[in-house]
Amino acid sequence: MFKFWYKEFPQYPSDHPDYWRVRLIIHALLIVSCYFCILTMTNLVAFSNYTFALLDGTGLLISLGIYVYFRKTEKVDWAAWAVTILITSIVLLFVMSAGGYRHSLFWATIIPPVAFFLLGKKWGSWVSFFAFSVCIFLGYRQYLSPQTGSYGFAALLNVIEVSAAHILLFRFYEHTRSSAYRQLAIRNTDILRMAETDKLTGLYNREKLDYVLAQLIQVKSDKNGLSVMILDIDHFKSINDQYGHLEGDRVLTSLAIELQQSMRNEDIVARWGGEEFVVVCVNASLTTAMALAQRLRANIANMTISGKHLTISVGVAQRQLDDNAESLLDRADTALYKAKRDGRNRVLAAL
Ligand code: GH3
Ligand code: MG
Ligand code: MG
Repeated sequence: MFKFWYKEFPQYPSDHPDYWRVRLIIHALLIVSCYFCILTMTNLVAFSNYTFALLDGTGLLISLGIYVYFRKTEKVDWAAWAVTILITSIVLLFVMSAGGYRHSLFWATIIPPVAFFLLGKKWGSWVSFFAFSVCIFLGYRQYLSPQTGSYGFAALLNVIEVSAAHILLFRFYEHTRSSAYRQLAIRNTDILRMAETDKLTGLYNREKLDYVLAQLIQVKSDKNGLSVMILDIDHFKSINDQYGHLEGDRVLTSLAIELQQSMRNEDIVARWGGEEFVVVCVNASLTTAMALAQRLRANIANMTISGKHLTISVGVAQRQLDDNAESLLDRADTALYKAKRDGRNRVLAAL
């Protein structure tokens, strides 16, 4: 609502821990300044009450002074204290001047939300305790000399104004809370994505693969079985040696895209490390996985990847009853090793 009232502080972006404190400080100072400005003018023009006009004018100067000083120095802790003391003083002076009558005590209820938000738990408690002690004292004096019929128009106005102030304050807090949760959720998603993704290729990394495979093996729900293939680029070192490491990276990225495109949607493709990839073929017997691997090997051998001719060797294994993730991958790796030994550019099934 007050977006156009002030220039943003670029050094306190929305993910900065002090972002919302800075906003509350600025909003509070601008509202208090406007309030004092209106009161000064009203006292001068409508009531010709120069004493009150002088008091309100002083309040206006103090709040504008804090605002200008804060804009210059950007000392958040200092401004937090200044705003809390300013608001607490205004409220208590008002409440005391009304002797606590005409429901003016309601105004003290806006002190804890401001003090806690700006000063934190410890000082928020102390400031609130002090403000409410003053109110209790005033309430006690009312108890000693009760006034009848004190609910006049001024009391009604106090209730209305405090209610409006509370709604504004709590809207602000709800906004703060929901925005903090939103940012947390976005950050969690980012962290989760980073934790399970290989940075170069964007495929699942080894940790994520181990986790997914362990889960799939436990479930044992595949009708046709579960198979894995481990594939390794043949003589990849020579690509690095010939074209440089960066070009080698490009080849790995392009191969990852090709892999993902040629596998079925339900298959899980991951980078196992270096120039080795694993594909988990869900609901696939050894025969199906072998056929998929053969097709992939032939495709890659017949195409250029990032401008280079490549071949891959693949080891394929199907889950046996007593397999865990490690033993299944181990058997596929043994088959891959054999495929390399047998001359590369081939697919071998594990025993
Ligand atoms: P083989 O046919 O026996 O698999 O031979 P190879 O050269 O592919 O295998 P070797 O294990 O001798 O070398 C693998 C190479 O992969 C060595 C390493 O520098 C390279 N490599 C591993 N990770 C990366 C990477 O992230 N980027 C690049 N550019 N190269 C990588
Ligand atoms: Mg290799
Ligand atoms: Mg290798």
